[in-house]
Amino acid sequence: MEIGKYSFGIGDRFAHEGVNQLKALIEAEERFGVHFDPVWNKSNREHQIVGTEPAETRREADEAVAALGYKDRYFVDADHINLTNVDRFIEASDFFTIDVADYIGKTGTMEERFLPAIKEAGRIYRHIAECKGAGNFVTEVSMDEVDKAQTPEELRYILKELAAEKIPLQTIAPKFTGRFNKGVDYRGDLALFEKEFEQDLMVIAEAVKAYGLPANLKLSIHSGSDKFSIYPIMGRLIRKHDAGIHIKTAGTTWLEENIGLAVADPAALVLAKKIYVNALGRMEELAVPYATVIDIDESKLPLPEEVAGWDADTYARTLRHNQEDPLYNPSFRQLIHVSYKIAAELGDEFYPALEKHTDVIGEQITANLCERHIKRLFPGK
Ligand SMILES: [Zn+2]
Repeated sequence: MEIGKYSFGIGDRFAHEGVNQLKALIEAEERFGVHFDPVWNKSNREHQIVGTEPAETRREADEAVAALGYKDRYFVDADHINLTNVDRFIEASDFFTIDVADYIGKTGTMEERFLPAIKEAGRIYRHIAECKGAGNFVTEVSMDEVDKAQTPEELRYILKELAAEKIPLQTIAPKFTGRFNKGVDYRGDLALFEKEFEQDLMVIAEAVKAYGLPANLKLSIHSGSDKFSIYPIMGRLIRKHDAGIHIKTAGTTWLEENIGLAVADPAALVLAKKIYVNALGRMEELAVPYATVIDIDESKLPLPEEVAGWDADTYARTLRHNQEDPLYNPSFRQLIHVSYKIAAELGDEFYPALEKHTDVIGEQITANLCERHIKRLFPGK
C-alpha cells in the first residue's frame, strides 16, 4: 500500500466533518491543480478525550467517500500510537503513525539518544505487520513531540537505522526548529526553518538511495494546521526538489466548527460562548495534554462578561485565523483549540447543533482548508 506524493491529514475531533473536509480537497484540486490523498487521522489522545473509538474515524472516512462518489485512494491514520494502545487501531486503520518520541534520550551520543527509539519503532512496526500483514498499511514514524529539534544529520542517522530495522517507512515526522503551537502560526526563525527543511529534503532523497527506503518516503508535518508563514517556504522547496509532503491539519477543523456555530444562529452562538466560558474555568486541566504545543497569554483572554455581549461577527473574527484582522486573538484561539473536551461533554446539545448547521460549518471548513492552507502551499497555476 502506497501513499501518493502529496497527502493531507484531515480527520476531526468528532468524526463529523468527513464530507466537508473531502469537499475541500476536491475543490483544491479543481482550483489549484494539485491532488492530495486524504488521510483521516485521529490520535489516541483525542479518542480518549472525546470518548470515541477508531472505528468511528473509519466510518467517517468511508461515508464521506461514498457520499461524494470519491474514486481515489484514501487512508485512516492511527495517529501517535505505541505498543500499549495500537491494538484498538489495527482493524480500522491502514496508516500507522508510530510515536517513539518518549524513547529519545536527552543526553549522550546520537546512537545513545536515538537508537532506543528506533528499536522501539521496529518492535511496534513488526507487531502491526504481524496483525495486518506487511504491505497492507502505510508506516510513519513520528518524533515531533519532544523539546529539541532534530538536525538534518540526526535525521540521516535516524533514517539509516530505521532502514536497518526493515521498516518500510513512507513518511517521517521529525521535530523541526521553532514552535508549532496548536491552531496558530509558526513561531521561530523562518530563515533557519527554510535551511533545515531543505536539508531534510535532501537527506531524505539520499537516504532513499543509500539505505533502500521506499522511493515515496517524504516528510510529515505535524501540527500543520495554521502554520501559514512556513507554507510558502515548504511549497517552494518541495517543488524545487520534486519532493512529496504529508501535512496533518486535523486540529483546525474543530476551530472552524466553533466559528460555524457562532455565525449559524443565535442559539448556536450561545453554545459556542458556553464552550469558551467553561474552558476558561478549566484552562489548567485542558492545557495539560498540550503543554508543549500551546502558548496562551492569560492576560489576553476576554472575560465571560465581555464575551456575553459579543455578536456573531465579533466572536467569529476573534477566533478566525486572519492575522490582518485587529480582532483576531491567538490566545482565545488556542484556548478554544483545547476546549473540544467541553464540547464533547455538552454532547446532547453539541452534536445536534453540528448536525443542524452542517452547511454553515462546511463553508468555514472548506474555505479554511482551501483558501488559508492549501493555497499558501500551492498558489495555483
Ligand atoms: Zn504529532
